[in-house]
Amino acid sequence: MFTDSHCHLSFPEFADQLPQIREAMAEARVDRALCICTRLEEFDEVQGLAARFDNFWASVGVHPDNEDIAEPSIDDLVTRSARPKVVAIGETGLDYYQMDERKGGRTVADMEWQRDRFRVHIRAARQVRKPLVIHTRSASADTLAILREEGETGGADAAGGVFHCFTETAEVARAALDLGFYISFSGILTFKKAQDLRDVASFVPLDRMLIETDSPYLAPVPYRGKTNNPSYVPYVARQIAELRQLTAEEVGEATTANFLALFKGVAS
Ligand SMILES: [Zn+2]
Ligand SMILES: [Zn+2]
Repeated sequence: MFTDSHCHLSFPEFADQLPQIREAMAEARVDRALCICTRLEEFDEVQGLAARFDNFWASVGVHPDNEDIAEPSIDDLVTRSARPKVVAIGETGLDYYQMDERKGGRTVADMEWQRDRFRVHIRAARQVRKPLVIHTRSASADTLAILREEGETGGADAAGGVFHCFTETAEVARAALDLGFYISFSGILTFKKAQDLRDVASFVPLDRMLIETDSPYLAPVPYRGKTNNPSYVPYVARQIAELRQLTAEEVGEATTANFLALFKGVAS
C-alpha cells in the first residue's frame, strides 16, 4: 500500500486522463492521494476531485510562485477548509529560486508579499487546526524563521505539517523535524545527481517521512522527463527502501501510517 501525499491532478495535463490514472494507481497499489491546490481559482476543481473519488483528498492554498491571481485572506482559506475532504492548508511557503530568471531580477527584499502570504496560510492553519503543506526553495532560513515567529514550534497549539518535495540539507531537515514537521520526498530522490538528498533521506526518521509525486512534475527514474502521475510514487518508496535496507512495501506502509497520523481528517 502506498500514498501519494502531493499531486496536482487538477492541472490541464490530466484533463481526460483520470480513468487511466486511477486504473494505474490501483494496479500499483497506490491507495490514496492528496490533491494540492495552488490558486483559489482552482480550488473548486481540486475539492471536486476529492468529493468525486473516495480515495482522493484536497488542500486549499496559494503557491508562493503564483502572481496575478486572487490573494487569499485568512478567511478565504478558513471558509474553504471547511468543505468536505479538505484536510490541509497549502501549498504555501517561500520560493527564492533563480530570482533573476524567474522573478524578473527582483531581490529577496522585494518578496515581502510572499512572506505575508505565507503568514496568512499559517494563521489560517492554526485557526482551523489543519496541517500545512509547505513549499520552500532557496528560502529555508526565512521559512523556518517565519514558522517560529508564527508560533509553529511543535507545541500543543501547533498546526504542524509537511515540508513537501524536500531538496534542502540535512541541517534544514533537522530544523523542520525539531519544529514538529514531517519531510516528504519526491522522485528527485531517484535522480542520478541527488546523492546529497539521498543522504538526507537516510537520516530522516522513518516515522517522520512522507512520499509524493508532485505530479505532473518530477517523474522518478525510469520515467524521468515524462508526465508524472500518482501511480509512480512506489518508485520513491523503492529508493528509500534501498537506502535503508527495507522493502518498498515497508516504506509504503510506514509513510501511509505517517500520512494518516498527520492528515487526521483522512481517517476520520
Ligand atoms: Zn511545491
Ligand atoms: Zn506541488
